Amino acid sequence: MLVSMSALEPANCPICEHSQTAFLFRKDGLNIVSCNQCRLIFVNPRVSAPMLAGDYISHYYPSEKRTRLVTDPMEWAQMTERLAEVTTKVAGRRLLDLGCGMGTFLHLAKSAGWETYGVDLSQAGCQYAREHYDLAVFCGNLFEANFPDDHFDVITLFHVLEHIPDPNPLLTEIRRILKPRIGKLVVEVPNGGSIQMKMQKENWPYVHPKDHLYYFSCQSLTDLLQKNRFDQIEVGKPRRVNVGKGAMEGIRFAIQKQISDLLVRLNLATVIRLYANCTKPINL
Ligand SMILES: [Zn+2]
Repeated sequence: MLVSMSALEPANCPICEHSQTAFLFRKDGLNIVSCNQCRLIFVNPRVSAPMLAGDYISHYYPSEKRTRLVTDPMEWAQMTERLAEVTTKVAGRRLLDLGCGMGTFLHLAKSAGWETYGVDLSQAGCQYAREHYDLAVFCGNLFEANFPDDHFDVITLFHVLEHIPDPNPLLTEIRRILKPRIGKLVVEVPNGGSIQMKMQKENWPYVHPKDHLYYFSCQSLTDLLQKNRFDQIEVGKPRRVNVGKGAMEGIRFAIQKQISDLLVRLNLATVIRLYANCTKPINL
């Protein structure tokens, strides 16, 4: 689907604020570029923020997508894998999932004893989370939620940051509500430095520039977090999950898992998951 020129806005690199970029490729009428200074890959010009927000609210969770997600065993297996790793990294139990969608991850966390909160822009997603899982979910953006200072032990953003037009104010707000020193930020995004991105370019399924505005690599995501004064950054190890049955499926999965584990070690896997703390005083 092509995007009209009037709906576009130019953007500087949010990490180094440089305006000079190199063209990489084009998809859906939009240019994907690389910052000449820090090499962040992003969409420029991009669909304007108000149009993105409106589109997300009205279209992100149509009923057929809701049905597919709650009945897809892979979705549940992936959320279980995320929670298992987060559990090993965090001391406290007060968790905010930003971009919680229909609340699948939060439902698993709450069932495991976490004190859970969610924020999402989608009315349909929030309604599902409240009605089906009895979750405390705020429908709107994080700034409107107005959580207290130093409140959360962990804040998770799974496949959210690549959608945010300006991630810097969001990360500042996250710092404010995350407990200093011990609070943990967890960010998972499609890996713009992955082997699929390098080889498939515009044909990689994660490239949809209308709403995936950034294609962070492990390095550029680290740079963005450090710019926002996060530290103690640690690379997570997302594990490939299997829901198939039978011997052949088991063998196929075992081979894929070996390859996947190697790609994770080389920061070339499909997704990147980073953990970060905020040990510096907030006013520095
Ligand atoms: Zn840059």
